Amino acid sequence: PLLLSLTLLSGYVLAQEGKAPADKVKHDYQSDVARLRKIVINSLYSHKEIFLRELVSNANDALEKLRITSLKEPELNITIKAIPEEGGKGGKIIIRDTGIGMSPEELTANLGTLAKSGTSEFISKVEGDEAGGNGNLIGAFGLGFYSSFLVADRVEVASLPPKSKKNPSPVQHVFASSADESSFEVYPDPRGNVLGRGTEITLHLKDDALEYLDTVELAKLVAKHSGFSSSFPVYLYELETKEV
Ligand code: ADP
Ligand code: MG
Repeated sequence: PLLLSLTLLSGYVLAQEGKAPADKVKHDYQSDVARLRKIVINSLYSHKEIFLRELVSNANDALEKLRITSLKEPELNITIKAIPEEGGKGGKIIIRDTGIGMSPEELTANLGTLAKSGTSEFISKVEGDEAGGNGNLIGAFGLGFYSSFLVADRVEVASLPPKSKKNPSPVQHVFASSADESSFEVYPDPRGNVLGRGTEITLHLKDDALEYLDTVELAKLVAKHSGFSSSFPVYLYELETKEV
């Protein structure tokens, strides 16, 4: 069942912006990723709202994977926060799940390549359908994580897998990438293991995507695209920026 709650949080403390740690590892995207980015940005501009469906669907998958592998009954939910910048010139959306998370190797493999992504299938379809317009394909294919770049010029993914026999002391890592870069970085989160477990995606919104800071709009989108497919509660929060 979907649970939508709209709450005004005052005094929510922003996570400190991480300074560049010495152990940042820089990776170049493979050329298919560069190709994908171009297709995404050029052809899906008028469908940019699908980013939310894709990210909620990934969060849902991650929660499902944890539920299957976990013996205990863990807390399973998705939290979406809209955080406008003071002065109203920008802002970010943070989507967090308490799911299975990703190790640094998984962040690199899963988000830095298209090997695992539904996007590669999408690309071949889109490329074979140049004349037909791409709008109708979007419903049929999961575009995946890269749809983040429809609304964000920079994306940070912090992730922490649960403790396991194979990985008894996991360390929270960040995958960071800007829309106009041909590389991404993976590094230990300077904040430490603050997530407890799961994944936190921070979208630094483009100027033409600030409408998504409106939680009423976000709630409508979750209901429209994910309302019947999310098996976990989705909580929506809005930051109230105040002069102090
Ligand atoms: P798809 O969902 O079709 O595999 P995506 O591009 O949406 O393609 O995601 C790529 C991969 O990244 C997923 O298969 C998953 O392994 C990983 N991933 C994405 N989001 C999350 C998340 N919130 N938690 C854990 N893993 C994730
Ligand atoms: Mg997906």
